[in-house]
Amino acid sequence: MIQVVRGTKDILPSETGAWQSLEATFRRIASQFGFQELRTPLFEHTELFSRGIGEMTDIVGKEMYTFLDQGQTSITLRPEATASIVRAVIENTLIEKNPLLRLWYMGAMFRQERPQKGRLRQFHQFDAEILGSAQPEADAESIVLASTILRAIGLSAFELRLNSLGNAASRLRYREALQEYFRPHIGGMSEDSKGRLEKNPLRILDSKHPEDKPFLGDAPVLFDYLDDESRNYFERVQKLLTALEIPYIADYRLVRGLDYYCHTAFEFVTTRLGSQNAIGGGGRYDGLFEQIGGKPTPGIGFAFGIERLLLLLEEEGKTPTSDTQCDLYVIALDDDSSAVGMKLAQNLRLKGLVVVTDALRRSFKAQMRDADRMKARFVAIIGENERLQGKVIIKTMASGEQREMALEDYESLQYALNT
Ligand code: AMP
Repeated sequence: MIQVVRGTKDILPSETGAWQSLEATFRRIASQFGFQELRTPLFEHTELFSRGIGEMTDIVGKEMYTFLDQGQTSITLRPEATASIVRAVIENTLIEKNPLLRLWYMGAMFRQERPQKGRLRQFHQFDAEILGSAQPEADAESIVLASTILRAIGLSAFELRLNSLGNAASRLRYREALQEYFRPHIGGMSEDSKGRLEKNPLRILDSKHPEDKPFLGDAPVLFDYLDDESRNYFERVQKLLTALEIPYIADYRLVRGLDYYCHTAFEFVTTRLGSQNAIGGGGRYDGLFEQIGGKPTPGIGFAFGIERLLLLLEEEGKTPTSDTQCDLYVIALDDDSSAVGMKLAQNLRLKGLVVVTDALRRSFKAQMRDADRMKARFVAIIGENERLQGKVIIKTMASGEQREMALEDYESLQYALNT
């Protein structure tokens, strides 16, 4: 038996209602904030991600699904959305047409991580990006959008952690301080950290290697190296969040170890999902456009992991449903009636009703049971008698009451079924 690939999942009909409900909430709230959807391909040139995410990251270093296509071009299944969105914006000169872009994206992402609860190899994200603004209002708007979505889907067991990575000058000073701190210990640290010491020491702080752990706690903290401009920017973001009544916890150890990340960094975490506690994160990335070959353009955005949101909702007993209500189940009692029944069903569907017929030629009793299982509000019964008289029996399931109606008077049937 061929099975699903490890780290991927089928989303079953019993689960898709919850997905559709979340997706509808994302769409609705993003539109309320003036965001528009941008859809990019599932795969890109590998170089986009190696440049856009960074060679020194786990994603690019170990987790990408990369292959050569028939033309020997190196292709990668996207591990995240931001780099693709920025590429699409540059390539289609969108920022030249509109100096402030608010874009959202939803879809599958691919990373070869070790699968566990809440960690998959094909997972789904909702992303929102604000491009073109270097003002703290954009940072605050991004965070407010994310919080509004979490609240709208009914989550309560989460926290917002917030930090500032400051401007480039601040991070340069911090980088030197980190190198100075780690240098005397580096002999006993992991190979990954040795490689990162000169190239990108901030990444050492994210290390999960046990041999690195003892040295991380006492490392200098980026916040202490922020200059006045950076502190001032951070204060303005915090002021806006306070004015908008968005609770947050300042977490000075929250970093994103890539050179083009700056100023605001944030993460939504939960205490309910064990080690996979990040449900979403984001930050400002003013250097990314240049990294990918575009004009300098500031940007800020975030991504939620949809599987983790659903796990957390389940944990809180708040899994959303969006079952379609079946208005009418049409029961045909003989061969000739089944064509008449299908025609009736089709005409009422064209009037907007949800109408189901039996495709198994089951007995009357079995069709009634199926109508019950589908929670149909009404049942239509057509047998030889009804067919010959141009009639149909309409049964109201809640009361058991039955009446005869004209088979082809769709207006009256529609009216009866809508009341
Ligand atoms: P990142 O792009 O790494 O900042 O991830 C953003 C969000 O996507 C995380 O907070 C998670 O909720 C989700 N996520 C990241 N990697 C995975 C994965 N392998 N499986 C499931 N969800 C993930």
